[in-house]
Amino acid sequence: MNNNETIVVIGAGQAGFQVTASLRQSGFKGRLVIIGDESNIPYQRPPLSKAYLKHQADETSIQLRPAEFYSENDIKLVCGDTVEHINRKLKTVLTKGGRSFNYDKLVLATGTRPRELTIEGSNLQGVHSLRSFLHAANLRDDISSNQNIVIIGGGFIGLEVAACAAGLGKNVTVLEYSSRLMERAVSPVSSEFFKSYQQSIGVNVVTGARITKLTGSERVQQVHLENGETIDCDLVLVGVGALPNIELAQAAGLDCDNGILVDEFAVTSDPDILSAGDCTNHPNQYAGGRFRLESVQNAIDQAKVVASTLLGQRVAYHIAPWFWSDQGEIKLQTVGLPIGTDQYVVRGDLEQRKFSVFHYRQGKLIAVESINSAGDHMVARKLITAGISPIPEKVSALDVELKSLLAS
Ligand code: FAD
Repeated sequence: MNNNETIVVIGAGQAGFQVTASLRQSGFKGRLVIIGDESNIPYQRPPLSKAYLKHQADETSIQLRPAEFYSENDIKLVCGDTVEHINRKLKTVLTKGGRSFNYDKLVLATGTRPRELTIEGSNLQGVHSLRSFLHAANLRDDISSNQNIVIIGGGFIGLEVAACAAGLGKNVTVLEYSSRLMERAVSPVSSEFFKSYQQSIGVNVVTGARITKLTGSERVQQVHLENGETIDCDLVLVGVGALPNIELAQAAGLDCDNGILVDEFAVTSDPDILSAGDCTNHPNQYAGGRFRLESVQNAIDQAKVVASTLLGQRVAYHIAPWFWSDQGEIKLQTVGLPIGTDQYVVRGDLEQRKFSVFHYRQGKLIAVESINSAGDHMVARKLITAGISPIPEKVSALDVELKSLLAS
């Protein structure tokens, strides 16, 4: 890129923000425009299901940078407008508000949106999703004036909200479709541990729950299960996953398949359009093929790759995926991807709520989840990144220092 060119970024979330910040940090002097459809300036989403719900964070404290950052760095930030059309031939984007921007290079950082329930009653008042600040503000208000909360989905977001709501003295039920919590992300040991933890703080956890409909007069009052049971409630949070925002890319003729397809340099099927964050499906060596990640780590690191590519440095995206989740007093940290685990070994003490689970596939260490064990997590990141697979017997032996296995 040269310094009289324009880069336009669509999506003012974690990845979009990081692209612009990294470009300026690396000395790019050209024009930078970032367009987001939310009215907030770029902010962190993780606190929305944690500190914000507990009234320990507010709209300002979660901002990625204060408002002045954008003017000080000559970044044109457009909030509250949606890009509706990309003209690849003319290299322009058009917004719902009637604005038009020319680009030399375009970056798509459009993120995901919550998957919605399609069953009867999903549109009743009191049925919430959680992705944006606006969602979180509505949810927080509604939680404060209601007592009986049902959370549909025992994944990260549902369980984080469950722990917050239980901490606020609410009656909380989590309904999970599969036989265990966070099934795709953690081992059965950790699923069971989190189930017991949630129960210990008063959350009613139901696995194998098949929901047939929601009922109520205007506002939701009951959740109905296939087995004939009904659960009374005043508020429902639906946390059943997210869908990538790819429609804009698809309409522009870019290759998409469960995400916008990019290569390891974050370039789409159009060499002038790059993409980063939750909306991308990218080659990931830790997944053994293409993968779509939804994490802050991926949004930040892939955005940095976008910036490098735009500046002509070929730095491929090969970073070990890591993630965290806070549920009440429990901090979960994961690294790697537990795809095809055929053996796992536990290090530490479940009773003390301090342990890590090491996942192996054909003798190779592929992922580690750590519960209240930040030290283990840091070493695990180094092991996974370096491709070191210590033998399971050593990993579980507490008299063997984990750090010492870095040399194995
Ligand atoms: P986003 O942050 O979603 O940003 C995309 C933006 O683009 C959005 O503002 C969207 O509205 C906008 N947009 C889309 N289409 C258009 C358009 N056509 N025009 C203009 N704007 C558009 N990750 C972790 O690692 N740890 C956690 O603990 C954690 N907790 C989370 C808790 C919650 C409640 C949520 C919702 C997510 C959490 N995540 C967590 C995930 C993490 O926040 C996301 O992975 C990250 O925000 C992805 O960044 P992104 O920039 O790709 O997408």
